[in-house]
Amino acid sequence: MGLEPAEEADSVPRPQGLVNPHRVAPCGHSPDELRRAFEPESPSPNGGLPVGRGDRGEGYDPAPSLERKKHSLGIHQAALPGGKRIALLKTLLTSACERDCYYCPFRAGRDYRRATFKPAEMAQVFSQMKQAGLAEGLFLSSGIAGGGVRTQDKLLDTIDILRRKHDFGGYVHLKIMPGSERDQVLRAMQLADRVSINLEAPNTERLAKLAPHKVFMEELLQPLKWADEIRRTLPADKTFKGRWPSTVTQFVVGGVGESDLEILTTTQYVTRQLRLQRVYFSAFSPVPDTPLENHSPENPWREHRLYQASFLLRDYGFDLEDMPFTAEGRLPLEVDPKLGWAQVNLRERPVEMNRADRRELLRVPGIGPKGAEAILLARRQGKLRELRDLQKLGIIASRAAPFVLLDGKRPEQQLKLL
Ligand code: SF4
Repeated sequence: MGLEPAEEADSVPRPQGLVNPHRVAPCGHSPDELRRAFEPESPSPNGGLPVGRGDRGEGYDPAPSLERKKHSLGIHQAALPGGKRIALLKTLLTSACERDCYYCPFRAGRDYRRATFKPAEMAQVFSQMKQAGLAEGLFLSSGIAGGGVRTQDKLLDTIDILRRKHDFGGYVHLKIMPGSERDQVLRAMQLADRVSINLEAPNTERLAKLAPHKVFMEELLQPLKWADEIRRTLPADKTFKGRWPSTVTQFVVGGVGESDLEILTTTQYVTRQLRLQRVYFSAFSPVPDTPLENHSPENPWREHRLYQASFLLRDYGFDLEDMPFTAEGRLPLEVDPKLGWAQVNLRERPVEMNRADRRELLRVPGIGPKGAEAILLARRQGKLRELRDLQKLGIIASRAAPFVLLDGKRPEQQLKLL
């Protein structure tokens, strides 16, 4: 099973190595990238990037600071839903934050150089980068300064200025701040192509150990519920692009002992009940000078298995009870969950490729939604008799072979001919 293109190409899991320096952080950014962005190696004496406190923008010279900030911001090559690749500027309106999430490099009280853009400043910077051909789309988040509502207003102002004053019609992914109000969620959905709020943890109990001042139901889940309600009940004619944006979320994986069963239970709820387009998973990586600095980093294979399982739940008709959970509610790291299911359930009961319906086809390793459609279409032309027939349809025939029948016969002996 292949992973579909992600908006943030850098967030596609890379299980080959244990460290992914580009992993998207809880606020939707790579910590390394933001360290570079907000900790210039040689800040000018009057450049005005205050150290170790929440910067509200006062007391600095905006002109040189703006130039320096602009040149330090990171551009990601990102694949949008549908596969189109663009240069995406991913940044924070401010790296100052009054919250103290245990995993976050921007948590309050951490000795850390902070920087703040005003809405008009950020809109101008992005517009200049767009004109210079450096950035085509914007992913905008923020630390929380003055409460979630006030911070969200500044994010909304930024995009509003960008859309109206700078006439920007391109891609915008806008973060919803914890505690935002319904009207702010609505306005964000009218302006952006994608909105997101990170749940971080799968439930109230786990969140309390990860981000003690975030409130799971009221601050994080409620905005996702509003987004779904708005999409279902209001016409999209007042949105900037005449359609509602997609909604996504993200979990920190492995920071507080949560199981895969807990994470996937919430994943299933938000994708099926609240119609989120997808869920992102970010393997925990300890940040120095945070309460979890001595906690072990999570194995990136776990992140990878969660992605695979989430796609099985969303696109392949699998349910939670189909997942090969251990007694502790964990997915085995050494086997793709779809292959694990097939080894238990299909080895002795292979699927006949000439009779199976779409749901049965999707249970076979090597066959995805496109492959299943191709098989159903090809069967109208004649019988599928050989692995080569599957291969011609884009199926990974070697993966499917142990679990299928072709015209009543097991095809394993044909594998060496491929
Ligand atoms: S709210 Fe939490 S995760 Fe977001 S920037 Fe602040 S400390 Fe970091």
